[in-house]
This record gives sequence, structure tokens and C-alpha cells, in this order.
Amino acid sequence: PQKPFQTKLVLLGEAAVGKSSVVLRFVQNDFQENKEPTIGAAFLTQKCRLEDRLIKFEIWDTAGQERFHSLAPMYYRNAQASAVIYDVTKASSFEKAKSWVKELQRQANPNIVIALVGNKIDLLNETTAEAGEEEEDETATANESTPSGDSARAVPKDEAEAYAKEGGLLFFETSAKTGEGVVEVFTEIAKKIPID
Ligand code: GDP
Ligand code: MG
Repeated sequence: PQKPFQTKLVLLGEAAVGKSSVVLRFVQNDFQENKEPTIGAAFLTQKCRLEDRLIKFEIWDTAGQERFHSLAPMYYRNAQASAVIYDVTKASSFEKAKSWVKELQRQANPNIVIALVGNKIDLLNETTAEAGEEEEDETATANESTPSGDSARAVPKDEAEAYAKEGGLLFFETSAKTGEGVVEVFTEIAKKIPID
């Protein structure tokens, strides 16, 4: 029997981007449509089995509200990993994510593994990329009416991906609602945690 390797992970990001929902999906494979906001921070654990080792994530799910910002260093100070989350339909949340990344790069453990995560992709009315789709006339696409209730993408995937690459961050897009991409976030982080 393998002894799990403990990894402290902190979730950061603007309020309502889905931090608690991503953790809930990862830990309980569940989703709540009207999740109550986190006060202060919540603590959860979940094991993640890799081919060669077992990782036990100790997850600090922080509150996104500005009034809790001063508490964040307590949670990221000793963290080996961080998932910085934004909402793909909300540009301001991407700006906030970038400021969290900067803060981590300046103040956190220099070896911290950071994942940038664009959540709520289920809200996008995009078709999956097919060969030749990029050739489509952009203006024609933009003028098409979209069914009401659909949100448009506010953060281009390639822009976020390029930002992540430049900063040496892992990058994912997820939906806590459908579960798409969520396990991958934690598995890829786990793979990058050095064992020593
Ligand atoms: P937090 O403040 O970052 O922890 O965000 P929450 O997890 O509390 O989520 C805020 C709201 O967004 C809740 O109403 C969630 O149900 C909703 N939500 C979270 N993730 C998703 C997602 O992937 N898709 C959709 N459609 N809604 C989501
Ligand atoms: Mg929360």
C-alpha cells in the first residue's frame, strides 16, 4: 500500500467564477446550480492516483470577494500548487486571474505549480473546432443571432493559452456543470508536483 503524497493546493479567482463548483465536481462529482458563496475559505481533500504515485490534495477553496483578499497569503504561502480560475464569459475575471498569477509569482513558493483555468465553457454556443472552420467569415458569424440565454465567449482561448505558456502555467478550460476538463486540471497538476 502506497502512502499518499500530500499536496497543498489553493484555489484563487474572482467571486462567482466557479472555484467551489470545480472543487465540488472534483471531490464529489456533483454540481449545484445555485451554490452559496464561500465565506473565508473551505477545506477539502481528494486523492488522485497517478501511474507511479498517489497524491492527496489538501484543497483550500478561498472566497473571491475583495474583502477577503488580505487572507489569501495565508492560504498560498505554503501551497505547492494553485488553480487560478476565471469565467470564460467574463473578461474582468480573466484580468483578476492575471493579477492573482502575478501575486503568486511574486509572493508564493517559487516552485509552486500554477494552473490557469477558464471555467463555464458549457455556456458557450460554440461548435467544436473542425477542419476549415477557422476560414469562416468572422463578421457573418458575429451577426448570426444567438438563442437567448446563451452567453458569448469573452476570453479568447488562444489569448489565455498564450498568456499561460509565457508564464509557464498549465492551462485548461473546464465546466464544473458538465464536468468537462475538471479531473484533468488536478491530474496534470499532480504530475507536475516534484516528489522529494
Ligand atoms: P466561486 O465564488 O468562485 O466559488 O463560484 P461558485 O462555485 O460559488 O459558482 C458561482 C455560480 O456559478 C453558481 O451559481 C454556480 O452554480 C455557477 N457555476 C459554477 N461553475 C459553473 C459552470 O461550469 N457552468 C455554469 N453554467 N455555471 C457554473
Ligand atoms: Mg466559492
